[in-house]
Amino acid sequence: MTAIIIILLAVLGAALGSFLNVLIYRLPRKESIIFPGSHCSECDKAIPFYLNIPIVSYIMLGGKCKYCQAKVHWHHLLVEIITPLILIGLFLQYGLLNLLFLKYAIMALFMIPIFFIDAFHQIIPHKLSIPLIPLGLLFAFLPGGDVGIIDALISAGIIFVFLVFLAYAYRFARKVDGIGGGDIWLLTAIAGFFGLMSMPYVILFAALLGIIYFLIFVRDKSQGFAFGTFIAFAAVAWALLGAAQFVINIPFL
Ligand SMILES: [Zn+2]
Repeated sequence: MTAIIIILLAVLGAALGSFLNVLIYRLPRKESIIFPGSHCSECDKAIPFYLNIPIVSYIMLGGKCKYCQAKVHWHHLLVEIITPLILIGLFLQYGLLNLLFLKYAIMALFMIPIFFIDAFHQIIPHKLSIPLIPLGLLFAFLPGGDVGIIDALISAGIIFVFLVFLAYAYRFARKVDGIGGGDIWLLTAIAGFFGLMSMPYVILFAALLGIIYFLIFVRDKSQGFAFGTFIAFAAVAWALLGAAQFVINIPFL
């Protein structure tokens, strides 16, 4: 049974990954995510369904458009591979008929496009970050979750107020914006998903990854970098590790 579920999640995940690729390309360009259908961004030719099979088509066509030979960016293949892997990882962690599987699968489906869009464009689209806030609170409200509604509300509230304060303090001290609105919405949403006790771990992990990346890969140290990318990575890693099971719950929350 487990093997069948894994195969089904692999197929479903690859198909969802293919859709996330559409979001990754179109959201930062403010294009509609529905019309037109899949098309080559170079020659505008429509891509028929038989050339639009996740993973398979990319490899068969050698990562190029069939008509104009334009290169298809490697993130398309990567997203179609990591999306099913994350779904399978969450299934192995939580089981299929568990609210937490659904909760963190939905969260991950938002984190994957946020990871790539922030990495490529240094923006976190509000269409992805803001709907996550009510979604996280909804999951806290439902029975069978790992984070209660009061914990989620307090967590999201504290993180939001703290980050807004930090953003103003940074702007006041340095006369430039250090923390973007996108980062604030994203972390507020994640706080609602994970609860207050998880947030120090998630933020520290994201900051650590960001600092390592900054020291090793960023040549021009005066430029900023996409913190949302590391927040998204840390959030998915925390969900895959079992999120709240590491956290000591405060009895009254
Ligand atoms: Zn083309």
